[in-house]
Amino acid sequence: MKPVYVDNNATTQVAPEVMEAILPYFRELYGNPSSMHSFGGQVGPRLRTARAQVAALLGAEPDEIIFTGCGSESDNTAIRSALACYPEKRHLVISRVEHPAVRSLAASLAKEGYRVSEIPVDSQGHLDMGKLRASLTPDTAIVSIMWANNETGVIFPIEEIAELVHRHGILFHTDAVQAVGKIPLNLARTKIDLLSLSGHKLHAPKGIGALYIRRGTKFSPFLVGGHQEKGRRAGTENVPGIIGLGRGCELAAANLEAENTRVRALRDRLESELLRRIPDAQVNGDPEQRLPNTSNISFAYVEGESILLMLDEFGICASSGSACTSGSLEPSHVIRAMGVPFTMAHGSIRFSLSVYNTEAEIDFIIDKLPPIIDRLRQLSPFSRDRAVPCSLA
Ligand code: PLP
Repeated sequence: MKPVYVDNNATTQVAPEVMEAILPYFRELYGNPSSMHSFGGQVGPRLRTARAQVAALLGAEPDEIIFTGCGSESDNTAIRSALACYPEKRHLVISRVEHPAVRSLAASLAKEGYRVSEIPVDSQGHLDMGKLRASLTPDTAIVSIMWANNETGVIFPIEEIAELVHRHGILFHTDAVQAVGKIPLNLARTKIDLLSLSGHKLHAPKGIGALYIRRGTKFSPFLVGGHQEKGRRAGTENVPGIIGLGRGCELAAANLEAENTRVRALRDRLESELLRRIPDAQVNGDPEQRLPNTSNISFAYVEGESILLMLDEFGICASSGSACTSGSLEPSHVIRAMGVPFTMAHGSIRFSLSVYNTEAEIDFIIDKLPPIIDRLRQLSPFSRDRAVPCSLA
């Protein structure tokens, strides 16, 4: 059975065009770009093309891009770099709804003695700009705020935030792992210093990411060793991954229009039909300021994991925002930060679409989900203890 895959914020299928671009780098062109011989050397120009393709999607210059192993590495590199470059500064600012790639790093930095401010969000997922402004001090080394939330798709006003942070003379990093390829970005006209992205969220392979470093930004490498990436990230280049990321970015640029029209229309229909057919359901996050592919819906009195298991029986792949903490299912930190009521919080499901989804797939979900919710609500009062598997979305 071909899955009905609506979990594209978790990862995406590698585009056939990307596959085609990568394969020669496994088969024939396996040389090391740092080698002196021409067999390895011929790879170098292809890496330059890939770098230019990534830069073009961002409205950046190729020398402002370094390749990394993943989005998490880019996030860690950006934040650690700021702290290394400004050792006298001991404070950093993040939002309460960051991905664990930033949150967990901030938590370990707090253990190392750094002061961390977490900016709250309101019930629609909007950042508290007043609290952000008030958090900035001469001791702040970096502010790291995600461009779009992976669970709700809510988009933060990153250009405005970057301006504000810059006015205070502080470095600004954004985790744009979910935004790149889904909404148009043009870094040339922003004050963003550092930006993270990840290949596997945009139909390129897993295990490849990139970090944008604005020209002139002080930088300290995370990985040291060889002189790859002009000394900014050591390690023999993941050539197939880089080629795939470049081609993926090129495709993403070509698909931006479709993301924002066809994918958005599919998402909106899925959402409005589910809300029409299922009582006691709500969309989490600002309905407008949202990625076009993402819908996070809470269904009252049921648990997300139970819904996922039943969807799985029909081959429908989605996500819940719950995490298993000491044997009980806790709503995710994002859902909790938004103050979603208890009865709703446990039954939140994230649908995240891509250009590969079809009308027929959306119809299938619209058909299958309402009876599932109905059955779960009849079967089990929310308060009853049930053994359900844990999944870390
Ligand atoms: N940041 C966000 C917002 C994400 O959604 C993810 C992945 O889910 C990451 C960072 C981590 O990216 P990677 O899986 O490439 O390390």
